[in-house]
Amino acid sequence: MSDTLALLGGSKVINFELNRYNSLGPEEVEAAKKVVESGNLSQFLGCWDPDFYGGPKVQEFEKNCREYFKVKHAITVNSWTSGLIAAIGAIGIEPGDEIIVSPWTMSASATAILHWNAIPVFADIEPNTYCIDPISIEKNISPYTKAIMAVDIFGQSANMEEINRIAKKYNLKVINDTAQAPGSLYKGKYTGTLGDIGGYSLNYHKHIHTGEGGILVTNDDELAERMQLIRNHAEAVVKDKGVTNLTNMVGYNFRLGEIECAIGIEQLKKLDSKIKSRIHAAERLRNGLKGLVGLKLPEIRPEATHVYYIFPMEIDEKVTGVGKHRIYEALVAEGVSDISLQYANLHLLPMYQKKIAYGSKGFPWTSDICKREVNYSRGICPIAEGLNDSTYLGYEMCVREFPDEHVDLVISAFQKVWNHLNLLK
Ligand SMILES: *Cc1c(COP(=O)(O)O)cnc(C)c1O
Repeated sequence: MSDTLALLGGSKVINFELNRYNSLGPEEVEAAKKVVESGNLSQFLGCWDPDFYGGPKVQEFEKNCREYFKVKHAITVNSWTSGLIAAIGAIGIEPGDEIIVSPWTMSASATAILHWNAIPVFADIEPNTYCIDPISIEKNISPYTKAIMAVDIFGQSANMEEINRIAKKYNLKVINDTAQAPGSLYKGKYTGTLGDIGGYSLNYHKHIHTGEGGILVTNDDELAERMQLIRNHAEAVVKDKGVTNLTNMVGYNFRLGEIECAIGIEQLKKLDSKIKSRIHAAERLRNGLKGLVGLKLPEIRPEATHVYYIFPMEIDEKVTGVGKHRIYEALVAEGVSDISLQYANLHLLPMYQKKIAYGSKGFPWTSDICKREVNYSRGICPIAEGLNDSTYLGYEMCVREFPDEHVDLVISAFQKVWNHLNLLK
């Protein structure tokens, strides 16, 4: 291997494509085949009937999820975006109510709020875990705040003790977006099960998947029923089911199919081992990178575990003397893939900057359901903005398989770049 940086004409440390992460195996093939052979790809009916709850694989997968996550109710949905929408409708949100959410998350965490004509209010994130910051949550509470959307970002829980304390003090509901942290723990409980409602994504990019899909979890009987109704044409079911609270009983078709649930049953069995392999790779990466000056490695919250959907790092340019963009270029040239310089700053998306969502006239912000001017300006979330602008470097851990030899090559590439930082200035 040449010692000259690949960016400056030397040879690459990694000169082949790493395998794609694949959580599927023959068990999933067999399970899906059996469902196809049965001819029953979905048994749901959108009326009050035993089949309102779906077919055998839906029910079996939900039972297994209840047992795994140790919750009273697990409800499958056709995506986690659908799950977030069902959760927000279920808590009885009114048009114009405000929900406090992190800007450092996938866009659906916030659009799920808009889908009920409620108003996302962005709170900043904690500098070390990148989860929503309880101090910023409290600063953003207004007379119209009804809930907190706590996102368990990158693979570990938000500070649920503080968030639940604030929620209790101000009588707010808490929803956990745990799309990226299934199977991680917070004080011995599964992340996602500590608020009123939580849940997990089963899309292709996550730790375990069914192509598309999601799982809602709650210990509250009424919220569970309301989410089942929103999942499956609530408006056509409430009368026969004897449901009298009609708030937000506007249904969707968010039902997950039998094939996906059969695959989900097999995937859930593998979740612990899949997490273990991500943690193993992340710890090896951490050990290999820990001597590099000006490179901050991920911090794990006390009494929490991290399942590393992303391995977040930060570059301190004052120490390296080289900005993160230049270091990124050098790493990519060495063949390091799946790194990125940016995550999300949702408040800076055009929709929020221009305040145009439903229709062309600024609904809901310009309508009288919106009770005050909400600020989405650059500057409201300095931690999240600073990460994207100058320090953040993320390594996506659910994109490739990580045998030890490959982790070691990634470490070598980082070391090589760090050994030549002076040449990148
Ligand atoms: C993936 C993801 C979602 C959306 O999940 P889908 O199943 O793709 O709809 C929402 N929030 C976060 C934080 C995610 O990572």
